[in-house]
This record gives sequence, structure tokens and C-alpha cells, in this order.
Amino acid sequence: MEKTLLKSVRIGDSLYDITLNNQNGMIERLTSIGGTAPDPGKPIGSTQKAGASANGSISNSTVQDARYDVIDAAGLLYLPSNADMHVHLDKHFLGEPWKPLQPFVTLPVQLAFEKQMLGALPTSIAERARRLIDLLLSHGTTKIRTHVDVDPEIGISHLEQVLQVREEYRGVMDIEIVAFPQQGLLRADSIGVMKEAMRAGAEFVGGVDPAGLDRQVDRSLETMFELSAEFDAGVDLHLHDPGHLGLYTISRFADLTSVAGKGGRTAVSHAYCLGQVSEPESRELAQQLKAAEVAIITSVPLDRPMPRVDQLIAEGVHVHVGSDNILDSWSPFGNGDLLARGSKLAEKFGWIVDEALLQSYPLISAAALAPKEGDRASFMLVNAQNAQHAIASAPPREAVFSGSRLVGGNWYTTAESSVYTKLHSSV
Ligand SMILES: [Zn+2]
Repeated sequence: MEKTLLKSVRIGDSLYDITLNNQNGMIERLTSIGGTAPDPGKPIGSTQKAGASANGSISNSTVQDARYDVIDAAGLLYLPSNADMHVHLDKHFLGEPWKPLQPFVTLPVQLAFEKQMLGALPTSIAERARRLIDLLLSHGTTKIRTHVDVDPEIGISHLEQVLQVREEYRGVMDIEIVAFPQQGLLRADSIGVMKEAMRAGAEFVGGVDPAGLDRQVDRSLETMFELSAEFDAGVDLHLHDPGHLGLYTISRFADLTSVAGKGGRTAVSHAYCLGQVSEPESRELAQQLKAAEVAIITSVPLDRPMPRVDQLIAEGVHVHVGSDNILDSWSPFGNGDLLARGSKLAEKFGWIVDEALLQSYPLISAAALAPKEGDRASFMLVNAQNAQHAIASAPPREAVFSGSRLVGGNWYTTAESSVYTKLHSSV
């Protein structure tokens, strides 16, 4: 079909018919069909249950045009698709037999443990990358930044497979790649392999713990920025180094970002130290991050201090949320559901009023809450009264569209029709 007409989609307080152009992946038309305050007398979801779409029933009866698939969304709520800005496609054990983990001792011990576990897996990186991408799509994520391990021992073998998988999913999952020297940029003598990775197609220079792992804070950071200059790349640093050591590292990272003219293209992931120092100290650094346009990426950890996201937002710093570890040698937790992770963030910071709940969305999505004609048709439909309700309840995804194509959610799982062409039938 050339087009898909989604009838009765809730956007804000109104219902719309949305026309998707299946050729160019865009939202072609938004037609308001009136106000629709939810009926307070009805249990939430009662109208949606009646939606034929939930069972995948599609008809052309309301539009006499054979070019259209017509689907009744029955008042389901529109949400923009998610952007998961920290995910490791090459580390997880999804689809593998259960792997008991060992307690974290030190970073070098953990790195050796991970290497041994990953080396023993019978499946290819590409196969496991596909599993995780499919899981992310099923939850409504259509954009990711993935950190791919490189080191002198494995070379760029992981990266080569992730690059191949990126091509398979082009148009469905938008994938940014960070060359990630997990064993340490300087510690593991990884500069040569990092250059190889950047030449092969990675767009971001990664790094990890300039103090704790490389034990040369300034040299480690300067090397990252030298690489980023050589390859005109962004920079994304994994930083677990604590307290004032971490604070110094981020401050230097911000300085180097400004000097290199890389504002808007650099980020520090984790940055636990921002939740470990005093509020005035973290505020001062937040102001420096804002001025240098350095973003902070958090996985919303429950088991340790994390950056004061309220403070960062108040100071104007860009904050993004990422899954990070999902069932891997570092953690058995995580399910790739970024809407649920955004919900966890809102709950953790006590964001209970509407305005606070809504400020979660820019952290988990790269798109606006309300679409415009001409936007890319990448979004999800959920059974919720409004966006505040959706972030608070993280309901199941009824449908996930990426570039006009149905790629996840209950409709995808259960229905059969041209619009429901299954992902791997053509990728
Ligand atoms: Zn990570």
C-alpha cells in the first residue's frame, strides 16, 4: 500500500486521522476530527478494547481508495518514538542460556570476566545485535547510540558486524556508533585500533575512566579529542570515576570540547560524580557544561548516586537517557523499554505534577510530543489518557511505527496485512 490512514489517534486533547506516506516514511496529513476529553465514567482503555485495530482488522471501507490501508486506532494516544542514547549491541546475552554473574570486584577484574564471557558465546555479534534491536523496536525505540568494543585483541571485529547490521536496519533503526575502547584507551594501547574503527565508520570517539583505568586523566582526554579532530567525530566518554576526581575530569572534558569547537557533539555518560559532590559544586559544573554544550547521558541507576537531573535541566544542560547494560556480564537487569526507564527517572526525582512528568520526554525522545505534517512517521500508540499518564504508567505499546512502517507493539505481533510486513521478511 502507498499510504496508511490511522483513524482516531489521540494527540494532546484532540483526535486526529493521520495519513502516513509509506513511500517516503513521512506523516503526510493530520486531520483534526474533534475534541475528545476522555469519559471519566469509563475505565481507561475501555474504548481502545473495542478498537478493531487491536486485532489487526483492517478495512478499506471508509476510504474508497485501494492505495490505503485503513486502521482504526480507537483513541489510542500518540507518543514520539524513543531515542536510547546508550546501548551496547555487542555485550548482551539476550536469547542465550542464563549466565550467572559474579559480584563486581574491580574494573580490571570485571573487564577480564566480560571478555571471557563474550568470547565463549556461540552466536555472532551480528545475530545478537539483531536480537537487541528487535527488542528495542518492540518497545518503541527507533534511534540508538551504540558503544561498540574495540581493543588490540578483538580489533574492530565487533564493529564490522555492527556496521553490517546497521545497513540491514537502515530506515527502521537510526544507529549512531561509538568506537569504545572498553579495556582502556591508553591502558590497553588502543589508539591504533581506535583509528581503524573511525576509518571503518564509527562516528564517535569513546573513552572510559581516564583516571580509574587509564591513570592519566589529561593525557587520556587529550587523546580522545585528538582522535575526534583527526576524524571530525563527536566524543562520548564513559565516566565512573567518583567524586572530585570525576568532577575534575568532566571539567577538563568541557574545556577540551570548547577548545575543539565541538559543542553539541560531546557527551559524558554516567557521570555518577555529579550526584556525589555537593549541590553548589555540581551546579557550578552544570553551568560549565551548558556553556560548552556537553550533554550528560544517564541510565538512571538505582544502586548508586546519579547526576542531579533536575539541576542539570534547570541549568540548561542537555540530558539523555540510555539503557546501558541489558542482561550482560555487568548486570542481569534491563529490558530495553526506554519509556519505562523514563518513568523510573520521573519517579526517582519525584516528578509528580504534570509539568514535571512532561519534562521526561525530551530525555527519552528526539521528537516532539505532537507531530507536524512532514515529520518522519516514527511513533508509538499506547493506551493512556495523555502523555503525563503514559510516562507515569509506561503502558504496553499497541503499535510502533518507524518511517511509516509497523515494526513493533501488539499490532505487529498479532496482525496480518500489508502494513504488517514483518521486519525480517525484508531486512
Ligand atoms: Zn556503557
